[in-house]
Amino acid sequence: MTIKALTIVGARPQFIKAAAVSRAIRGTDGIDEVMVHTGQHFDTDMSDVFFEELDIPAPRHRLNINGGGHGEMTGRMLAAIEPVLIEEKPDWVVVYGDTNSTLAGALAAAKLHIPIAHVEAGLRSFNRRMPEEVNRVLTDHLAALQLCPTSAAVENLANEGIRQGVHRIGDVMFDATLFATERAEAGSKILSELDLTPKNYSVATVHRAENTNEPANLREVVGFLQQQAKRYPVVLPIHPRTRQTALRMGIDFDGLKVIGPVGYLDMAKLLHGACEVFTDSGGLQKEAYFHRVPCTTLRDETEWIETIAHGWNRLWKGPDFGERSAIDEYGDGRAAFRIAELLKS
Ligand code: UDP
Repeated sequence: MTIKALTIVGARPQFIKAAAVSRAIRGTDGIDEVMVHTGQHFDTDMSDVFFEELDIPAPRHRLNINGGGHGEMTGRMLAAIEPVLIEEKPDWVVVYGDTNSTLAGALAAAKLHIPIAHVEAGLRSFNRRMPEEVNRVLTDHLAALQLCPTSAAVENLANEGIRQGVHRIGDVMFDATLFATERAEAGSKILSELDLTPKNYSVATVHRAENTNEPANLREVVGFLQQQAKRYPVVLPIHPRTRQTALRMGIDFDGLKVIGPVGYLDMAKLLHGACEVFTDSGGLQKEAYFHRVPCTTLRDETEWIETIAHGWNRLWKGPDFGERSAIDEYGDGRAAFRIAELLKS
């Protein structure tokens, strides 16, 4: 009997994680995958480039849902995913992380009694004002299989009474980084294109609502980065939403090396050569560590507490870096294969 897993993706970090798992599923007998793209991220440089570079099979279903408020977007996705699940009749619905696509996929599956596997389960910021926190808490409580990257994630679930179906499997982002770093070595020309010298520039990303919704907040973040740029170049691959918001608010990026969003191989190459990272992205905080680059997180809290505990990360308004040591949490680069095996069994 072949198990059918239906994967729901929609946003950039999900394409990257799903690429690793999809590759593992293709390398595992007895399990097939159907991919659904909600359309939450749709531009070439926010979506297509990841499918091309990371060998992700073309989605069988494209729902083309994006824009609008969080409630509207999630509701439209829920309505559109339901008939796909009824048609496909999967054994599992696999969702990733903490976006509206994650929650809509989980809700649609739960209402049809299809078991849910949640990749990156158990992460908590303990800040319910973040839309991502609401999405991940609800998804964790609906899922049958909790695929946790770290021991802190397992503990968070236990504290909420979730102990069944919980597996600590390592971090699929680490799998993704290993794959991309090797490919980027030959495949990416970004350093020469941007005229950057290894270990003499930093990389920054900004896209969280808490940093982009209010002009004062975005101004403060950009001002902080402009201060950093006095030491060495700050490369800012800008999220389309941040660019639009800044334009509307009349905020300029003078002094920063602003470029469009980059593909994952270029990002791996940029991170590998950087001497510092400044970000409000969850994924980048860990990727900085995978490349052994210190990270300053442009937020008031982080889900990836072990990066702080081991001195590789700090909160921009918090204490300085702690003493640096290796983090033994993110697995061995085979988290995705563990997921494929768990789905099968
Ligand atoms: N990323 C990328 N190109 C960019 C910016 C980010 O490939 O221009 C990658 C980054 O390396 C990480 C992921 O996208 O793997 C993070 O996505 P994002 O910051 O959108 O989401 P988050 O990690 O906050 O959920």
